[in-house]
Amino acid sequence: MNRAREHVIIIGAGLAGICAARYMADNGIAYRILEKSGRVGGIWSALNWPGIRCDTEILNYSYSFRPLLSQHNLVPGAAIAEYLDSTADELGISDNIDFDTRVMSAAFSTREHCWRLQTSQGEFSADFIINTNGYFDDRPHVPEFPGQDAFAGEIKHLFDIDQKEDFNGKSLVLVGSGASAISAAPALYERCKSLTLLQRSPSYIYEDDNRIGWFSDRAQRLYRAGVHFPIRIVNAFQQVKSDLIFVSFRQFPALGKWFFRHHWRDCVDRDNYRKHFEPLYNPWEQRIPVAIGFKALLGKRGFQLVTSEISCFTNGGVRLNNGQHIKTDVCVLATGFNLEFFRFKITVDGESIDTRGINFYKGMMMGGIPNYFQPFGPPHTSFTRRIETISGLIVKIIRHMQKHQLQQVSIARKTVPRRPRITPNYVLRNLTNLPAFYGTLELPSIDKLLFFHFRAKHYQFDGDDSNALDEAQQSPAVRAGDTSDQVLTGNCERGEREVTI
Ligand SMILES: Cc1cc2nc3c(=O)[nH]c(=O)nc-3n(C[C@H](O)[C@H](O)[C@H](O)COP(=O)(O)OP(=O)(O)OC[C@H]3O[C@@H](n4cnc5c(N)ncnc54)[C@H](O)[C@@H]3O)c2cc1C
Repeated sequence: MNRAREHVIIIGAGLAGICAARYMADNGIAYRILEKSGRVGGIWSALNWPGIRCDTEILNYSYSFRPLLSQHNLVPGAAIAEYLDSTADELGISDNIDFDTRVMSAAFSTREHCWRLQTSQGEFSADFIINTNGYFDDRPHVPEFPGQDAFAGEIKHLFDIDQKEDFNGKSLVLVGSGASAISAAPALYERCKSLTLLQRSPSYIYEDDNRIGWFSDRAQRLYRAGVHFPIRIVNAFQQVKSDLIFVSFRQFPALGKWFFRHHWRDCVDRDNYRKHFEPLYNPWEQRIPVAIGFKALLGKRGFQLVTSEISCFTNGGVRLNNGQHIKTDVCVLATGFNLEFFRFKITVDGESIDTRGINFYKGMMMGGIPNYFQPFGPPHTSFTRRIETISGLIVKIIRHMQKHQLQQVSIARKTVPRRPRITPNYVLRNLTNLPAFYGTLELPSIDKLLFFHFRAKHYQFDGDDSNALDEAQQSPAVRAGDTSDQVLTGNCERGEREVTI
């Protein structure tokens, strides 16, 4: 089929794809979304295990242009899927989505300034790609355990369990210590005879009462009455709080350790805290799971928390390195994900792009891939806040190009140090493949003010790299002081000024 060339193709209809679409539509930029599944929502519609939910406050995780109002801080995955679906419908985005269309490869021609995408529904072409294909592989990380074939029960990954599944009368071992395991444990406990949460090593866990505060409640009431700015104050407050906690725990680990000891003091004695809740790493070196109802679970009959490694499976259960044997009917793995930033092959002028260690500027553009954006959120806080900021910046770049009749934008491929902000196992497992992030502090409350203003000099336009100088190459003095939108840009030799919209 011969299709007309699109201006912007967005790949994926998850949280980031819907966000990018809304920003394009609001600024009169034509777009089409290609989505491999039959639904909007990305991971939130694909995964449906008992207890799945977000672990950042929903007001901060939902879009600023359509906050999800709730009396709960953290909401179930199904509510987020439904919210994304209704957002796409309400904003008229659903009409621009081609479902069941998997992108298999994307090839850019610098002569034609054009992307050609091979998909399961034939070829599409476009001036720009916004790749929001997510960053988790379709399949979870599943370790091999000695003797697992001898196990008479079932081994399942959380990925493959849905809300309807009932383990009535069965004993369960849930393996894992990350956010997935911590959110699933209370829900699985309700569905089985007994539950053992088996963690190889402890994590720092924060228990939330899942109630919104007084100000958030008032702000939501006012929002319903048509007064919107108090919600923005709540958003800003939540973002600053989240960034501050991250920075202070990383800078002062003793403070973080004290906080968590204090946090569990009411229900765990010192010895058990050391054994099950005190990790070897420092607070916020890994994402902190947020629990709801976990403290209550600790005291319940039929629940136990065990910290040890599986040595092997036996016919009737699992044997641990500490010699203990746990009888079980079902072993549920919450052993995490594999990271996969690129879900299709990318070539530029016929040459395949080696994406390993690729420089990833502001979580938005990758070195040497023209007319290509890949919005990516920061690791310690709401994905959405930066996705929105990036979508706004993409609009500014495209509008600048339209205004000056430029056809190609890129940043140079170069080596930048790979310093992941957090180092959970799924990052360490995939370290060699990871892009190298730079160009922001990875703190949305500050980044938004300092690093997401559009300046033409930070990009190469139409293959001309003589003026391009991204922030990493500028002197700190220039970077710190240069925050006005009305500065002269690198293209000022051509008499151009910054566009702000
Ligand atoms: C259990 C869980 C809990 C989480 N909780 C939080 C939280 O509390 N706060 C937070 O900030 N983040 C959280 N995250 C991270 C979460 O991934 C992001 O917040 C966000 O949902 C990512 O959205 P996305 O649109 O980038 O990717 P996804 O949701 O993964 O969507 C990608 C979309 O692209 C489609 N796609 C993929 N490949 C192709 C292709 N080749 N062609 C066409 N379409 C394709 C997919 O079908 C999918 O619809 C959580 C993640 C998980 C798994």
